[in-house]
Amino acid sequence: MNKLVLIGGGHAHLIFLRELLATPIPHEIILISADPYQYYSGMFSGFTEGLYGIDDIRIPIEKLCQENSVEFIVDTIIEVDPINKTAKGISGQIYPFDVVSINIGSSISELLDSTTIKSIKPNYQFPDIIDQFRSGEKPVIIGGGSAGLELALTTTAWRKNNNQEANVTLISASRLLSSYGTKGSTKIRQVAKRKGLEVIENETVEHLQQNVLTTKRNQRIEWSHLLSLTGPIPSPLFKENELLKDEKGFLLVNSTLQHNEYPFVFGAGDCVTVEEYPLLPKNGVYAVRQGHLLVKNLKAYLENQEKLLHFTPQKRFLSILSTGNQEGLLTYGSFYFHGKISWKIKHYIDKQFMHSFHY
Ligand SMILES: Cc1cc2nc3c(=O)[nH]c(=O)nc-3n(C[C@H](O)[C@H](O)[C@H](O)COP(=O)(O)OP(=O)(O)OC[C@H]3O[C@@H](n4cnc5c(N)ncnc54)[C@H](O)[C@@H]3O)c2cc1C
Repeated sequence: MNKLVLIGGGHAHLIFLRELLATPIPHEIILISADPYQYYSGMFSGFTEGLYGIDDIRIPIEKLCQENSVEFIVDTIIEVDPINKTAKGISGQIYPFDVVSINIGSSISELLDSTTIKSIKPNYQFPDIIDQFRSGEKPVIIGGGSAGLELALTTTAWRKNNNQEANVTLISASRLLSSYGTKGSTKIRQVAKRKGLEVIENETVEHLQQNVLTTKRNQRIEWSHLLSLTGPIPSPLFKENELLKDEKGFLLVNSTLQHNEYPFVFGAGDCVTVEEYPLLPKNGVYAVRQGHLLVKNLKAYLENQEKLLHFTPQKRFLSILSTGNQEGLLTYGSFYFHGKISWKIKHYIDKQFMHSFHY
């Protein structure tokens, strides 16, 4: 019997637990995560707008573990040593393993090394931070990608519904939704304007002072609450880990989701770079897709099977960005649609995802 340690209660490990219920395996399994709950980012926008409560957007990992006879431990892992096959928690506890799988997500880069601005990552910090942010006098979001836009637009909607002045500003270093193509940028710009979100594009923050920031082109913007959503950076776990990380600091795995030199180290989701697809965007869609493969490969590896499956990312996937007031921007390849139906589809997909874990 082997000891499998799962680090992080991210999408892939939740799928592992769910599938374990259907086909249990005769190995000792421990899941260690930073919080007893996994918060589902697909529903963060709905929470921000006030459409979902806290229990709608989180999955109790401990309960899921209990149902599967998996031991659950709350701890933040700060070191993984592939030579001695141990992981170390912030608690000081050492966890030995035969096989380890890591699914801890990513971090968000700190704004100008500011330690005063709190991050929504790890995900369990999200509800408290957004609660303060959305009711602040002048909330400002840095980052014009889908996460920044969703939270800026749904904060705007929440404020209007709660009789507060919109007063939300979004600053983007490039054009809005730059990875979507110009059609997407134009559409979201129109939506933002119509909804009263103030957008500053192609501008970077140069100086940060208490309640005022200055941009490269010398614009002074007052803020009461700041959220930085400038894209994923590696978790501190791999920062000093020369044995496991790639040049950017993500865990390097191959398409079977294993480390080349230490094949008993598996990883999935935002925390990994897949060697064959180094530019793969980090999002929940790929974390879920890798989760299904991870389940099969971990089981095969534990049963000493030689052939493992290979991850191939799908070329296109449906993306729906919530824009507030129960509207959404749906994109699929070059197709775009904005409206209430898009949000309804998103709501349905997200609810189905949560229901698949019985919540
Ligand atoms: C506001 C926002 C909205 C988003 N909306 C979408 C969307 O609609 N669709 C989409 O596809 N993507 C979306 N994303 C991106 C998505 O959140 C991530 O790509 C996705 O969460 C990655 O999943 P994961 O399983 O790798 O990690 P995560 O979901 O981040 O889960 C990591 C887990 O590991 C735990 N953990 C973290 N560090 C440690 C540690 N050191 N030790 C132990 N446990 C640890 C955490 O508590 C957490 O439970 C959004 C992101 C944001 C910020």
